[in-house]
Amino acid sequence: MGIPAIKKQNFPMLIGNDWVQTPRIRPISLPYDGTPVAEVYDADAATVDRAVVAAQKGAKAMAALTQYERSELLQRMKDLLERDAEDFARLVTLEAGKTIREARGEVARSQQTIAASADAARHLQGEVVPMEAAPTGRGRWAITVREPLGVIAAITPFNFPLNLALHKIGPALAAGNSVVHKPSENTPLSALRLARLAIEAGAPAGAYNVVTGTGEETGRQIVNDPRIAMITFTGSPEVGREIRAATGLRRVTLEMGSNSSVILEPDCDLDFLLPRCVLAGYALAGQVCISLQNIYVHESIAEDFTGRFVAGARALKVGHPLEETTDMASLINEAAAERVESWIKHAVSRGARLLTGGTRRGAIVEPAALTDVPADEDVCCKEAFGPLVVLHRYSRLEDAIEAVNASQYGLQAGICTPDIGRAFESARKLHVGGVIVNDVPAFRVDLMPYGGTKLSGMGREGPRYAVEEMTELKLICWRG
Ligand code: NAP
Repeated sequence: MGIPAIKKQNFPMLIGNDWVQTPRIRPISLPYDGTPVAEVYDADAATVDRAVVAAQKGAKAMAALTQYERSELLQRMKDLLERDAEDFARLVTLEAGKTIREARGEVARSQQTIAASADAARHLQGEVVPMEAAPTGRGRWAITVREPLGVIAAITPFNFPLNLALHKIGPALAAGNSVVHKPSENTPLSALRLARLAIEAGAPAGAYNVVTGTGEETGRQIVNDPRIAMITFTGSPEVGREIRAATGLRRVTLEMGSNSSVILEPDCDLDFLLPRCVLAGYALAGQVCISLQNIYVHESIAEDFTGRFVAGARALKVGHPLEETTDMASLINEAAAERVESWIKHAVSRGARLLTGGTRRGAIVEPAALTDVPADEDVCCKEAFGPLVVLHRYSRLEDAIEAVNASQYGLQAGICTPDIGRAFESARKLHVGGVIVNDVPAFRVDLMPYGGTKLSGMGREGPRYAVEEMTELKLICWRG
């Protein structure tokens, strides 16, 4: 099948219910080969200010909706996303460069994220507090209610431009807030298309505003605006650290990176896990926050696993992202590919063995697997965010757990053994936000609580959990 033609489109920003342009045009191109795909506009300071003012009005309108009405709004957005799924998938491929099949997967998950947000809107509730259980509580009654915060800023990365945006917008609207969204400068298209969909679904003016521009200018201005009650950020630890420092006492959630690991015990189900490890290592060219980067494989199965894993990596078809049969396409840009290539070369210069891949062509890096890598090499201990996997052998489970816990990150980890006792004990010892037993750490469904320890972040996503972060718990206590 041939590659479908690409027609360049133009996407203004959405502020209130107005489509806004500035003189500062930014071209968006396909990461795979630089084909121009769209033009967007960089916001200036006045545009960001206008978006915050619109969002303040939007926040009032959202807070006035009942939970049922917010839930219905989100449900309509889900239905429209389902109707326009293929348009969205194509936009995600064009901006992020992931394969069309991966983009369709993202759009399907995005529908689940909005559905879970609609559900969270209906179930948002407080509790009755047993005041008379305290010595001085006689005759007092209390309940808690969850109230919206106001304007929430969503700052999102390039790798899941639609679904990770919806992980913020869905719960924010479910909780009765409004949103100012700044997508990645590389991937603003699906968010701008989503803005059109939100209007069609009947979102109040100013409930969802999208401003485009760079992180350094537009992102910083948003973060430093005191009218914004909360920043919900997904991206790198470097930017997360800056946002945390700039926001003082305002609320922040940070969803950041990782160098995720799986531990394969001698009795694990290799037939199931082999293709899962290949997928988890190279999906989206490794640009997933829970990409499988480090595999700790027990020495008794290491040889068998290594041969089959390398064969799996070699079998992946690398190519144009719009081609239906492509398994893996490019990284987000050439600079990212050059970084991955240089990390591999550095590891090899210190004695690592490159088992397959690692060659670069423009923004494309062939799926790479390494072994015998010194533990302090970047390919092991920093976030690769590229198609490379490091294989480690171990003999004692405690040592593998210790190696995983030595990471500066802690998003998710996998432990694979049918022995329930060993799996549970390992799960308790692993210092991460989520342990996946008998599968890879890249496993996620959108309703589960998701977030990390250490440099991987603070706060949890998953709509039911995110609405708690995006509301204020108020106590109402009365006498009599
Ligand atoms: P990034 O460079 O940190 O950018 C993330 C967002 O922050 C972008 O919208 C960026 O805008 C903006 N930004 C940059 N500098 C800023 C500043 N000084 N103030 C405010 N905003 C600023 O991350 P990325 O390269 O797009 O994404 C990759 C990272 O995201 C990886 O570390 C990955 O692990 C992480 N991630 C984490 C999760 C999770 O759920 N834990 C999920 C996906 C990705 P510009 O793009 O315009 O610079």
